[in-house]
Amino acid sequence: MIPHFRTGTGFDVHRLVPGRELWLCGLKLPHTHGLLGHSDADVAIHSLCDALLGAAALRDIGYHFPDTDPAYSGADSKILLARVVELLADKGYAIGNVDITIMAEAPKINPHIPAMQQLLAAIMKITPDAVSIKATTTETLGFTGRREGIASLASALIYKP
Ligand code: MG
Repeated sequence: MIPHFRTGTGFDVHRLVPGRELWLCGLKLPHTHGLLGHSDADVAIHSLCDALLGAAALRDIGYHFPDTDPAYSGADSKILLARVVELLADKGYAIGNVDITIMAEAPKINPHIPAMQQLLAAIMKITPDAVSIKATTTETLGFTGRREGIASLASALIYKP
């Protein structure tokens, strides 16, 4: 019998602006700019939520947490991720592993990756070893290269135990 595995992908972009906090993978990073958005604008968690929702064919993050809803103004994206994990559990899905690629010219993300893995793993109830976080620049090309924004891509595998 073939086990019930499903995969999903997610992608998100937020604009970098002065005067905002920079949140990535649930951590606040010291930086000159932060991401603009209705919530805390954690672009990495948003891409992860979309990968998880996509794997379960549960639409997307904007469908569940509309940016017109004042309830999500300034929202901690870790809470949105916890809600997505619940939505998957309601459909009988557990999370196998996730893989995130953050595209940013600055700041340096690599030193923070172990702490980010711990944080996201705890929310998803999986081991840090099942949470891959990678960072790349885009060689100064495009909007990420010009430091106008940060993009994030994620994939997720879910299964019915
Ligand atoms: Mg977003």
